[in-house]
Amino acid sequence: MVEISEKELLEKLKVNFGYDSFRLKQKTIIENILAKKDTLVIMPTGGGKSICFQLPALFFQGITIVISPLIALMKDQVDSLKANGIPATYYNSSQSQQEQQAVFNAVANKTIKLLYVAPESLPLLQNILNQNYVSCVAIDEAHCISAWGHDFRPSYKQLSFLKKSLPEVPIVALTATADKATQEDILGQLSVPHATKFVSSFNRENIALEVRPANDRVQQIIKFIQKRPSESGIVYCLSRKATEQLASKLQQKGIDAKAYHAGLTFDERAKTQEDFIKDEVAIICATIAFGMGIDKSNVRWVIHYNMPKNIEGYYQEIGRAGRDGLPSQALLFHSYADVIQLRQFIANTGNKEVQEAKLERMKQFSEATVCRRKILLSYFGELIEENCGNCDVCKNPPKFFDGTIIAQKALSAIYRLQQKEAMGTVIDVVRGAKNAAVYDKNYQTLKTYGVGRDISWQHWQHYIVQLINQGYCQIAFHLNNVLQLTDFSKKILFDGEKVQLTTPVEFKKETKTAARERKSKAKRTPALQDSLFERLRKLRYRIAQEEDIAAYLVFSDATLRQLEIERPQTDDEFLAISGVGQRKLEVYGGEFMEEINTFIKEKKKGKKDTTLETFKLYKEGFSIEEIAVKRKLKAQTIFSHLSKLYLEGKDVSLDEFIDANTLKLIGNAKKVLKNETALKPYFEFLGEKISYEQIRIGLTILQKKR
Ligand code: ADP
Ligand code: ZN
Repeated sequence: MVEISEKELLEKLKVNFGYDSFRLKQKTIIENILAKKDTLVIMPTGGGKSICFQLPALFFQGITIVISPLIALMKDQVDSLKANGIPATYYNSSQSQQEQQAVFNAVANKTIKLLYVAPESLPLLQNILNQNYVSCVAIDEAHCISAWGHDFRPSYKQLSFLKKSLPEVPIVALTATADKATQEDILGQLSVPHATKFVSSFNRENIALEVRPANDRVQQIIKFIQKRPSESGIVYCLSRKATEQLASKLQQKGIDAKAYHAGLTFDERAKTQEDFIKDEVAIICATIAFGMGIDKSNVRWVIHYNMPKNIEGYYQEIGRAGRDGLPSQALLFHSYADVIQLRQFIANTGNKEVQEAKLERMKQFSEATVCRRKILLSYFGELIEENCGNCDVCKNPPKFFDGTIIAQKALSAIYRLQQKEAMGTVIDVVRGAKNAAVYDKNYQTLKTYGVGRDISWQHWQHYIVQLINQGYCQIAFHLNNVLQLTDFSKKILFDGEKVQLTTPVEFKKETKTAARERKSKAKRTPALQDSLFERLRKLRYRIAQEEDIAAYLVFSDATLRQLEIERPQTDDEFLAISGVGQRKLEVYGGEFMEEINTFIKEKKKGKKDTTLETFKLYKEGFSIEEIAVKRKLKAQTIFSHLSKLYLEGKDVSLDEFIDANTLKLIGNAKKVLKNETALKPYFEFLGEKISYEQIRIGLTILQKKR
């Protein structure tokens, strides 16, 4: 292999992927692969593993075969490569014989650079699996080959023969999770024991970590979402029922959410997942089954409605946020009820001790009073010196106070209740509650009854949890979760030891005045809908629909943000944006720059409503083309103004732009395609004879009629 200079690498990175510099260890990894050395890459989700083998593929003579476990993932990656103008395809058992033959021809004629295939289909590729055709093999999700990893797949076992049949070809194994033992196992299984290893930090700096007590969860979630309109997010719940209930509560608030769990049919799940990927639905309330094999880069936040059962799971789930590197949020709700429930689950499973220990670590993380990222990373064996500055503890360090008297009240209540009551009743007693739990057992006569009236129920809960964490009392999980004293309790009750407690962080419900203020402020500040980002997002959505690909494959959120800030006006300026390569400039540049221009012009004109201006000219009798020329906009833009006016019920007649027969054909297609919204399926269904423009007009008219 001829030596390739850094300049050449950077050039290809820009032209084909739109990026200006390498991240982390990408460059050395790529050089290693180009030197035909076997390579193991451990990099966190969103770290940028794909480019490590996709970029070398462009330099190799033959193809790079990419082994990937899920068809959905393959399709996504192939779409993404194609959007960047890189010839790639996939091979799988669901393709017709013709399609499969086309793949073979493409390999023989060297018209593709990358071929994606599932491990089980590999034996069917025998006739091309030789060194004349294949220059590199990349194995994605490589931990699946190891029984020690967390997601072993038997079909990955077949990969061990690769090195034997292709001894000269570099094997590249990539994964986001593999501890030391799993790493060795992967290399052994693949017969590449001497592969060069590249292990990156696990840290995902852009994900802000936050834990809140689980009071009024639904309200808190609604508020959280309302602050972030039109952002994509996932809420993980423990049960199917919870996903459905939450989704329906969010819908009632006008929030665009859907439920996802294993109880839905395969088709329902596939549809929901696709809607999410394509930005058709913003929020998914899901059990943990959701998210595997989703590459969507613009998931902005992940909420855990319930506490996960271990840190591995938690980290994997929050890792689905912010793959594009932009600031993202991970919010976990911590409740004691969840801990108790998880313990019950664990009690009925195998290796109970290990699981209990893992749950305990999860609980410690949730209750931490030091930097949470330090705790997370140390769990994975990585130590950081500095506090992260991007977790709730760092941003809002806990305030300690002398809580000795509070502790004495709680512990003596536990003592007087003869260590036979759970936390709820203990709190009821100190607060002097007048309910059945108290009166049935005559607890109102106890000496500690009502000694802590001045402290709210939730604050008591917060303090008692801290006492448990510091070992001053404990929950007897095997005895209906009653609170018991420990050896340490004495020190407080009798030996005058002092206790430090933290003040609870308040998440107040919004008062009526505050709500009014917020709304009127929203009115004064320009609505989000008017922001350039929002308009670029809508344009991206429309293009993605037409091409029938996921919106983030057109441009990532990070690229839209940069477009919003830089507002490029020329091809060169547009190309300078991170995420814009040669093909994307050619295909999308014009439309995006036009949108930016329109936005700037409108701003100058004091935000005169652009559609109304079109409407005025239309009423004066000008044709679409004439209006386009007058307004220096594309005909397509004028048309979209007219559609909008039409749907709003303004006096615009779209019928004159389409003949009755075409409309009928589209109406028919709409039935067959079950009200599909993407334009491409119509275009194909109608034999590619009716233009996208006409299809769009037809669908607008049909929508109004309905
Ligand atoms: P992984 O497979 O490791 O989870 P991806 O390969 O999907 O991550 O990359 C995550 C995101 O980061 C993608 O949107 C990708 O385009 C982007 N990315 C990768 N490398 C770079 C780079 N050098 N500069 C900017 N963005 C990058
Ligand atoms: Zn921190």
